[in-house]
This record gives sequence, structure tokens and C-alpha cells, in this order.
Amino acid sequence: MFRGVIQAARTLRPRTKPSLRCRTFASTSLVRSDAPTVTSLDTFTEEEVMLRDAVQKFATEVVGPKVRDMDENEMMDPSVISGLFEQGLMGIETSADHGGAESSFTSAIIAIEELAKVDPSVSVLCDVHNTLVNTVFRKYGSKEQQDKFLPLLAESKLGSFCLSEPASGSDAFALQTRATKDGDNWIINGSKMWITNSYEAEVFLIFANVDPSKGYKGITCFIATKDMGIQIAKKEQKLGIRASSTCTLNFDDMKIPAENVLGGEGKGYKIAIEILNEGRIGIAAQMLGLAQGAFNKAVPYTYERKQFGQPVGTFQGMQFQIAQAAIEIETARLLTYNAARRKEEGRSFTKEAAMAKYWASVVAQRVSGQAIEWAGGVGFTRETGIEKYWRDSKIGAIYEGTSNIQLQTIAKFVQKEHS
Ligand SMILES: Cc1cc2nc3c(=O)[nH]c(=O)nc-3n(C[C@H](O)[C@H](O)[C@H](O)COP(=O)(O)OP(=O)(O)OC[C@H]3O[C@@H](n4cnc5c(N)ncnc54)[C@H](O)[C@@H]3O)c2cc1C
Repeated sequence: MFRGVIQAARTLRPRTKPSLRCRTFASTSLVRSDAPTVTSLDTFTEEEVMLRDAVQKFATEVVGPKVRDMDENEMMDPSVISGLFEQGLMGIETSADHGGAESSFTSAIIAIEELAKVDPSVSVLCDVHNTLVNTVFRKYGSKEQQDKFLPLLAESKLGSFCLSEPASGSDAFALQTRATKDGDNWIINGSKMWITNSYEAEVFLIFANVDPSKGYKGITCFIATKDMGIQIAKKEQKLGIRASSTCTLNFDDMKIPAENVLGGEGKGYKIAIEILNEGRIGIAAQMLGLAQGAFNKAVPYTYERKQFGQPVGTFQGMQFQIAQAAIEIETARLLTYNAARRKEEGRSFTKEAAMAKYWASVVAQRVSGQAIEWAGGVGFTRETGIEKYWRDSKIGAIYEGTSNIQLQTIAKFVQKEHS
């Protein structure tokens, strides 16, 4: 669909490795090798700019017309998922050898942000798949596991990250799912709750304890595929991001071959901690895009809608609210990009990621709520789609660590730095 973009990307930076498939966005270059040493946070490589343009076009033209129906039906349109794969957006950081775009982490963040401007449900589908599932395979998978699963995840199979359980959310490592060795296999028993993408997914990363006597040091990450016997027990009905599937999964003597242990026995807690630190930047990007999307929809309306003989957006009371919201979105943007660039540069980013996620979710709730008010009565109806942003914003303060958990992380850093 946007072949011009891929061709332009190739002209800019010749590919050194062949990709498995032709993609709208594909690049072998990694982190801003051409960037000056000191730069503003919203400086992007030419490839990142092209990616942004391509995702914007996909989001507006392909996702946009389906948003309302997907929300009402509480179901992701399969053509949106296949479109994301076709666009090369499901293997953004995956190497070209494995069929991915081999691009930067910031590229993934940009894609998540742009998708969220149009539909935060589509954004989180892409986010979980890229920043959690693909990254676990890329960082901790064996060569055999990477060769087998990364091409599938880049080409056609959706992934799911299964950590939370009915009795372990914030206290994730209190998980109860057990894995017991049986010859060359592991037998998994237990349940997972609130698992994003799980209704459509075909590859699952499941965290289970192989030795409860060791506490969290028994937690191990397993690769499962749907055909191994994952039962979808319940699909949740939710306040927001309703097109994104969230299900309870049951494992009843599910057999997983020994070679599907990812990262080693007992290494699951380390994988989960590290990956969720990165993943939080993705959620920050989702909330940032959401806030901008609500702002973009409501503000133009305020310059069209007249009351007392003038556009409502030109009353000082409105102007100041709009200006304040613009500042808040910008602060969320800077925190998010800063955390992303620090991660790319190999610097510490845990505190910055927690700050970005916390603040972007505050801003998303605040701005999307105001956007409804700026549009008055029509903002409250489903006609404009503005109210949907507000419903969708609430989840930012809950998943991948609640706001309290982010504050707890930030407070630990503050105490360390100042005591
Ligand atoms: C739509 C959706 C999608 C999700 N997707 C996934 C997924 O793909 N994979 C996955 O593994 N999980 C997923 N989750 C689960 C999500 O990560 C958890 O819901 C989240 O971590 C919070 O856990 P909890 O719901 O058990 O809340 P609880 O941990 O029970 O928290 C309840 C309240 O207590 C507060 N609290 C808890 N502990 C503390 C503390 N120490 N200090 C201060 N306050 C505290 C919390 O901030 C919160 O306000 C999803 C959840 C939802 C709703």
C-alpha cells in the first residue's frame, strides 16, 4: 500500500541483509548513528520520520473507519491485525534475518503512539506484541527459539505475555501456576488473568513456577502455542480498549516440550522485571498518543462551534485550558522520548520509564476528559469518538504496573539518590 515509503527508506540507507518479505517500513539501521551528539528529544532519523508517516497513513486510512464498530462489537477486526503484519509493524526491532524491520526501539514507540492517536486498542495489540513478546525472544531466546518463533511473530502469528493471575497482579511473583517436569516435557497447571491479545494470539509466553520452595527464583518462562491446549476461559467485557482482547486462560495438564523453556529455569522473574521496565515506555507512548488523539479531535471543533456570537475556543477560559493541555501533552512526550532514547543508548531507564508511564497516563485521563467537555453535548455522545478516548485512558493507570507501583519505583530511586 505504501511502497513508496519502503523504497525511500532503502534509498536512504542501503540494506545489508535481505528481508524475508517486502515491508512498508523496513530498515537495517539501528540507533541514530547519523544523529548529532546533542539534540532535542523530538529529533528523529529520516527512517523514523518515514515510519511515523507510514503508520499515520495506515492508522487513518485502514484503522480509522473501523474504530467505532470494533469498539461497539468489542472485537478486533482481523483485517487490522493482518494489516499490521503486512505493514511490517509486528517485528519492528526484529532483525531482517528473522523477517523484521530491524529498526530502533524509538521506532516501536513512534508506531505505538501513532496507532493510539486513532485507536488505543490497536496500539496496545502492537505494543504487547513488539515490546514484550518479540523483545523476550530477541533478548533471552536461544538461537533455535529465535529462528523458529521470530519469523512467525514478524509475519503472521500474534503473541501474548501471560504473567498476571487472579491472585497475583501487582505482586506478580506470587503467581500460582505450576510447571512440573515429566521426562522431556513440562506439565503446566494453573490460570492466567487479564491477558491482552490472548483471544487472537497463537504464541504465548507463560510464566510458571517450577519450584515453589525457591519462591520467585522458581519462576520460569515457557513458550506455548495455541495447539498445546491453552483454554480461553473467559473474554472480559471492559470499560475501555474494548477491541483489545483480555482473557482468562486455563492450563490443565498442558504439555510443553523442554526446549520451550526460555532464558533458563528460574530466570522468569528477571525476564519479567526487565521486560516490563521497557514495556512501560510502550504504555507511556500509548497514553501519549491517546491524549494527542483526543486533543486533535476536540480542539478544531472549538473553533467551529459558535456560542455568544464567537467560536467557543476563542474564549479565554477555553484558550487557557487548551494551552494547559498542550503543555501537559508535551511534558508526557518529552518524558516518553527521553526514556526511549536512554534505553536505546544503553543507559539506565527504569526511573524514567516509570515517570513516563505514570505521567502519560495522568495526562491521557485529564486531556481526554477535558476534550469531552470542550465539545460539550456532542463530546458526550458516541458520534465524535471523543468519549472513547476517555474510557480507553483509564487502563494506563492499571496495566504493566499500576500508578502506585510506578510511584513506588520512582520513590525508591529518589530515596537512593538523596539518602
Ligand atoms: C485490560 C487489561 C489488560 C492486561 N493485560 C495483561 C497482559 O497482557 N499480561 C499480564 O500478565 N497482565 C495483564 N494485565 C494485568 C495487569 O497488569 C494487572 O491488572 C495490574 O498489574 C494490577 O494488578 P491487579 O489488577 O491485581 O491489582 P492489585 O495488585 O490488586 O491492585 C489493586 C490496587 O492496590 C494498589 N496496590 C497494590 N499493591 C500496592 C502497593 N505495594 N503499594 C501501593 N498500592 C498498591 C494498586 O495500585 C491498585 O490501586 C492486564 C489488565 C487489564 C485490566
